[in-house]
Amino acid sequence: MRVAIAGFQHESNSFASTPATLDKWKEAGILYGDDIRREYEDSRATIAGILGRLRDEKDIEIVPLVFSRLTPMGPLTVEATEFLMSEILRLIEEEGPWDAVFLAQHGAAVSDKYLDADGEIAEQTRQLVGPDVLIVTNLDMHANISKKVVANSDIVKVYQTNPHLDTYERAYESADLLLKCLRKEIVPTSFIATPPLVANILKQGTSDPVMTDLLTMAAQEAKRPGVLSVSVVEGYPYSDVPQMGMTFLAITNNDPALAQEVAENISRYAWSLREELNGVATSTEVALVEASNSMEFPVVLFDVGDNVYAGTTGDSTFVLQASRKLGITGLMQAIYDPTIVAEISPLGIGAHVDVMVGGKMDDMHGEPFHIKGVITSITDGKYAETKPSHGGFLNYDDGLSLAIATDDGNNFLLTSLPAGSNSLLQFRSAGLEPLDQKIIVVKGVHSPRPAYESIAKKIYWLSTGGASTADLSNFNYKHRRIPLYPFELTTEWS
Ligand SMILES: [Zn+2]
Repeated sequence: MRVAIAGFQHESNSFASTPATLDKWKEAGILYGDDIRREYEDSRATIAGILGRLRDEKDIEIVPLVFSRLTPMGPLTVEATEFLMSEILRLIEEEGPWDAVFLAQHGAAVSDKYLDADGEIAEQTRQLVGPDVLIVTNLDMHANISKKVVANSDIVKVYQTNPHLDTYERAYESADLLLKCLRKEIVPTSFIATPPLVANILKQGTSDPVMTDLLTMAAQEAKRPGVLSVSVVEGYPYSDVPQMGMTFLAITNNDPALAQEVAENISRYAWSLREELNGVATSTEVALVEASNSMEFPVVLFDVGDNVYAGTTGDSTFVLQASRKLGITGLMQAIYDPTIVAEISPLGIGAHVDVMVGGKMDDMHGEPFHIKGVITSITDGKYAETKPSHGGFLNYDDGLSLAIATDDGNNFLLTSLPAGSNSLLQFRSAGLEPLDQKIIVVKGVHSPRPAYESIAKKIYWLSTGGASTADLSNFNYKHRRIPLYPFELTTEWS
């Protein structure tokens, strides 16, 4: 039996300033054939889970076709969408016939061509392969899942941890379900419940209340006879699309009524928790003062508004500007500033520089910040994380990077590519030891947690502005559903 793997993974932030152009996808790498295997086989990402389950099955031929993933940013351009989708469809057609196709998607891809790009690739794949070929769709927990995705897939599996540490396991299970389908042991039937509910990004940690309560209930429902899979899907509030919001997905063995009952049970429970799923972040000034007065270090400040893995620029200076106003130093932060890196790296280690950094990519992430200091290291910005990290990826590339120790006691890592904060090696590879810092500013809400919870004496989630701010009232939505909780607090649903 022949099984294809293809996909383009993107979490599109409708409010981010940088569009996901075809050039960006090509820079990130559009992989074909065995290059996909080489890149992901040893990782803990989705494709590794699929390969992990299927590679020892003697009657299965796995054929990776084309795969790409791009850091979250603005929506895909028409050109990028058409290229990625036509490559997938072309290869499915040329290299077929197939018994099954895996679509390794993210689930929050928005394009200037389609508001539901994930639904579109599922539907067009279905139209191409016909009703008898199995389609398995693997998605991120931040997916905004449409009914179109579910209607055109036989199996949809979604990560159930945030930070995402179970990508491998969920993909492995989806491949296991596929095998059972191919061997005629099960007939999957799915239902997706779509209450008008958005969970605030601050409340999406799966080891925090109340998400733990929902997942506990989902695990109980999953044990019912005939239930094959249950997914709680958090949704991604920065995609301005009709399907934006939480969804609840159940797959049963040939029992559509049971699938509906299970999905709706969890959905009703989530609705009852809607006030707890709403959240407010801490004022940057309050957090800075408390961090500065702390007796134990490092204190880690999460810059929620500049979450690179939610599509922002990675060059926000709001926390730095606030710290200067308050006279607080002893901060360490990474800042995306390719122009300054290119300008001063030729000066070499030990050079004293006087530059304006960050706050340049758009008008949403603050003004450039003035620093004077000494370059302490210059690196290629590449590091490989072997410990469990968000998404299960191994290899990171922040581009040519340099560390600067400022005259007033801050440490900066200037990068040539937008850099998230998944790994302590980001700083360590540049000679900056996180354990020696007083205050570390990281970018993100959940993705930095596996790395930083292990060393932080205290963590604050900041109410910073930016394209991923926790305060959704800052955004002008055009396509979301109305009413939708918490935008319309009086939303009724049953
Ligand atoms: Zn995610």
